[in-house]
Amino acid sequence: MARVTLDSVRKTYGDTTAMDGVSFTVGDGEVLGVLGPSGCGKTTTLRSIAGFETPTSGTIRFDDDEVTHVPPENRNVGLVFQEYALFDNMTVAENVAFGPKMRGVDKTARRERATDLLELLGIGGFEDRDPTTLSGGQQQRVGLARALAIEPSILLLDEPMTGLDAKLKTRLQREVGDLLAELDVTGLYVTHDQEEAMVMCDRVAVVNDGRVEQIGTPREIYEDPANDFVAEFVSLDPPALPFVEW
Ligand code: ADP
Ligand code: MG
Repeated sequence: MARVTLDSVRKTYGDTTAMDGVSFTVGDGEVLGVLGPSGCGKTTTLRSIAGFETPTSGTIRFDDDEVTHVPPENRNVGLVFQEYALFDNMTVAENVAFGPKMRGVDKTARRERATDLLELLGIGGFEDRDPTTLSGGQQQRVGLARALAIEPSILLLDEPMTGLDAKLKTRLQREVGDLLAELDVTGLYVTHDQEEAMVMCDRVAVVNDGRVEQIGTPREIYEDPANDFVAEFVSLDPPALPFVEW
């Protein structure tokens, strides 16, 4: 576990400003939702925390250590990103055990870790399956198990429910939300879906055009939006939020 702090992070690509002075802290064991429309800078924020992007200016810290220029492999961050599809030339267990293998964990221990994680995620017994034969929801869980297998201090999830049908999404939101709370991992959960952010996260940062418009608990954001953008972006009916305890 670690606290994640961004201080005035800017990231530009030529004339495009993807992050325009982003500052926030995610507490130890907290899950922060990063919510905003397409193109607002959510993925760039996560990629910067993972170490795949270097900020143009500003700093990133894990606890008290500055990591702004630390390479990704030295950050102990677990990733569930759309572009990290499962390896289709490996079994489910081999996918999950891949990170530990790269870190020199022995074969018996990594197999055991994979089995435990798959069990925890409700897909025990799938170890020797070819991941391409699994449903979308099952593949999503394998991706999460793979990210958790390195015992990350920080877990980054970038729109992990994309492509799932509504019913499965609702179920997984609840299950993954409970799991994140149970594991006590520090998490950043990117989504453009306000309901998902409100259901799954302890606090939510609403992002617009590379800037954080508001950061607060789902309730604070819903009941007291900081401006018109936030009000419009999070407007929904409470009955649509069956798992949020008001
Ligand atoms: P989101 O994940 O919220 O949809 P992104 O972080 O992917 O937003 O992108 C923010 C902005 O930065 C967009 O305008 C996007 O086109 C631009 N951008 C992101 N990555 C790159 C890149 N590698 N090169 C140029 N522009 C980029
Ligand atoms: Mg994105």
